[in-house]
Amino acid sequence: MHISSNVNRFLPYSFIRVFILSLLVTSTALQLFNMAHTQDLVRQLQTNFHSIFETIRRFGSYYNNTPNVLLAKGIHENNGVSLLVRQNNMSVKDLSPGIMKLHAQVEELAPNSVWTVAVLENPSLYAHFLPLRKQYSVAFEQYRLNDVIERVVVRQQLNHTYQEFYGCNVQMTEPYIENGTDAFIRTVYYPIHNRRSLDALVSVDLKESYIQDQIEAYNKRHYTALNIDGEHNAFTTTALFPCSNEMAFSIGFSFTDIIMKAVWPSLLLAVLYQFGSRVLRKQGRSIRTDEMTNLYRRDYYEPKLKRMTSFSLLVLDIDHFKQINDGHGHAKGDEVLAKCARIISSQIRAGDAAIRWGGEEFVIVFKNMHQGILFEKAEQIRLAIANEKIAGLDVTVSIGGVTTHQTAFADTYKIADTALYESKHRGRNRVTIL
Ligand code: GH3
Ligand code: MG
Ligand code: MG
Repeated sequence: MHISSNVNRFLPYSFIRVFILSLLVTSTALQLFNMAHTQDLVRQLQTNFHSIFETIRRFGSYYNNTPNVLLAKGIHENNGVSLLVRQNNMSVKDLSPGIMKLHAQVEELAPNSVWTVAVLENPSLYAHFLPLRKQYSVAFEQYRLNDVIERVVVRQQLNHTYQEFYGCNVQMTEPYIENGTDAFIRTVYYPIHNRRSLDALVSVDLKESYIQDQIEAYNKRHYTALNIDGEHNAFTTTALFPCSNEMAFSIGFSFTDIIMKAVWPSLLLAVLYQFGSRVLRKQGRSIRTDEMTNLYRRDYYEPKLKRMTSFSLLVLDIDHFKQINDGHGHAKGDEVLAKCARIISSQIRAGDAAIRWGGEEFVIVFKNMHQGILFEKAEQIRLAIANEKIAGLDVTVSIGGVTTHQTAFADTYKIADTALYESKHRGRNRVTIL
């Protein structure tokens, strides 16, 4: 009947279908979202390195303004910093408090990422290390006097940075594995020049994991799925690390990571959709149909009838229903009502509509029905009810009917109601068509 075809339109998409659709939409949105964030992450990585470089550069004036003291050959511990002196009674700068501060400040910018801070004097007569590892003291013992200049400053093209007013007077290396400790690090070198010659070299080792940490923190903050130098990336943006000899890196994302990120929101969307559509369907159904009989509600269907022309109408009323209520109780009455409604529904086609018009009165509308058939149809319904035990009782209905062409509904109903009255008057359990 009509109601079931209406409900079909509201039947839910299967959960899988909604989930896959959400996954498609969410992953597309996430891709756009991640694209929009790549430049931001690139800038952030570059800015963070710049901040670290700035902090390291401030060490220059601290170095220059630290007075010399005389120290004996050996290892001097101060504030956790080890000062290695290679000759007796040497005039050295004890830079320990400054190195401590430098270490702390870089740690603040790059938490848990500072591997070593060292200041190497030129010539290599003494050096500071925080922390001092065994490998460093062994290596330092073997340093020649001009080792620092030869090994680092020239190689990193840092020997003339004092001539430049712009550009980088620090240099960051490529990531490498440190000899002896096997730590995977990058080193930031900052040469301290005075009167055109190198006095010392500040060297800050950053764990390579620092970059990964920043990306993970960024992803967490922004719900992104970005990576650095990913192999199977669907999208990448390439940029340079600052002060790193044009060293390029790329930020991007892989399709797999996007899908992984999209799974949970899509699942949630699918569940919400399922839940929401169920609620809406239930609400929609209760707006359209009467709960007890499952037929259309009068207030829902009457406005439609008022717009309709050319249809056949039956008005149907249960006979002596009051007696059923009085004799068998209200609950029995309800049962009879529901059962009669089910029989009416079973006797009409999908395009027809049955409406609970009042307490035990029903209206049935047939579109495109041949006038001659209306009586037969009404008889069929009357007999279907009369011939069956309904809730254990013999129940009959009286029916009045009319076929209308271009007549207002109110007038049509009045005629059908008159016909019904005639059926009642003629003894009930009968059909009158006017
Ligand atoms: P007639 O053959 O002339 O139609 O007699 P009748 O007793 O069916 O008519 P009447 O209008 O006197 O009584 C209808 C009764 O139907 C009165 C009302 O209490 C009862 N009724 C209306 N709606 C419901 C309902 O939802 N459930 C039950 N159990 N009774 C209802
Ligand atoms: Mg009645
Ligand atoms: Mg009645």
